[in-house]
Amino acid sequence: MSHAVTKILDRVAEGREVSQAEATVLYGAKGADLKAICNVADGLRRKVNGDRVGFVVNRNINFTNICYMGCTFCGFAKRREDEGAEWLTLDTIVERAHEAAARGATEVCIQGGIHPKMPGTYYRDILLAIKAELPDMDIHAFSPFEIWYGAAKTKMSYADFIQDLKECGLGSLPGTAAEILDTEVRKLLTKDKLSTEKWVEIIRAAHGLGVPTTATIMYGHVDGPEHWATHMAQLRDIQKDTGGFTELVPLSFVHYDSPLYTNNPGKVRPGPTVDEVDAMHAVSRIFLHGQIDNIQTSWTKLGPERAQRMLAKGVNDFGGTLMNESISRAAGSEHGQEVTAFEMVQIIRAAGHVPYQRNTRYEVLEEFANHDPARQEPLVERQAEPLDFMTDLPEFLREAV
Ligand code: SF4
Repeated sequence: MSHAVTKILDRVAEGREVSQAEATVLYGAKGADLKAICNVADGLRRKVNGDRVGFVVNRNINFTNICYMGCTFCGFAKRREDEGAEWLTLDTIVERAHEAAARGATEVCIQGGIHPKMPGTYYRDILLAIKAELPDMDIHAFSPFEIWYGAAKTKMSYADFIQDLKECGLGSLPGTAAEILDTEVRKLLTKDKLSTEKWVEIIRAAHGLGVPTTATIMYGHVDGPEHWATHMAQLRDIQKDTGGFTELVPLSFVHYDSPLYTNNPGKVRPGPTVDEVDAMHAVSRIFLHGQIDNIQTSWTKLGPERAQRMLAKGVNDFGGTLMNESISRAAGSEHGQEVTAFEMVQIIRAAGHVPYQRNTRYEVLEEFANHDPARQEPLVERQAEPLDFMTDLPEFLREAV
């Protein structure tokens, strides 16, 4: 092992916090260094979370993929007239939430593209429509990008806009659209439309109102260890002030149908390497220790088998069953749309942990030490995906942009 990594891990063993500069060293580790880092991360995971690994039964509802923001990494967005453009009516969204509830979901995760003609009030309409019929359903919805857009459209401050959504039934926000919190990298990924400062401001506003969020990082494109350390340092600083992050979810870049990759041959990496995936989860566990205690692996990005391996590298959560994963799929990921609760339990148990179902706030709903959840057929096998919602477009979306 290298002297530098040994020294840092010795300090971790003494209970000292890892600095941003030290995190840069750890994120770039390989070989014996990386193995030792993973072991330390696994030890911290065991100390904080015990043997239990959680998952949430939820459903993704992407109400539209029509978006004109032009993020270069995105394989999900469509123009209004594109084949495959989707728009779900409020009735369809509510119907999907009902189906999710019937399959045991406690959460719906709702995000959509950003259509320049969509009114900012549409977000509250979605919440009110679901809550009117399913008052107990946790609604985890709207990325900081959507909050930025909705607040601008309604001419409200971020705090007032989020407060209004909270009163309409919003439970928590996905901390997506963070990508990498570094101005230069963001310029390449999103043309810096939602700047680091604005992302942080929106997240802090949500936490200040008692609306928790997740934290994410999207890595493996034009970034590296230094950017990851900068990103994590900002997340840790926010958490020290607000305590509002429920978990970190590292999201590896899926390159297949991403313009960022296809339009820049040789300049953009095709997602993180195996070592980088290990380092991202393990070092983040160590760096955020004592601040963010839940590190989640993303089966949609890594596939269930690789995601399972992360349970030995600092991860204590397997995320959601999702039922309709479509963002990674649109970018070319082939890891399916759903991992059922039954499958979650088998995957977690096979890795030597005790599975439990939780809600969005990490409250334990049921532990599966000696029994299994009921088997379910994946939802997608009995439900066709919407192919043409153009005829259902509301008035405000019918005009050309
Ligand atoms: S990442 Fe989101 S905001 Fe950016 S283009 Fe894709 S759908 Fe639109």
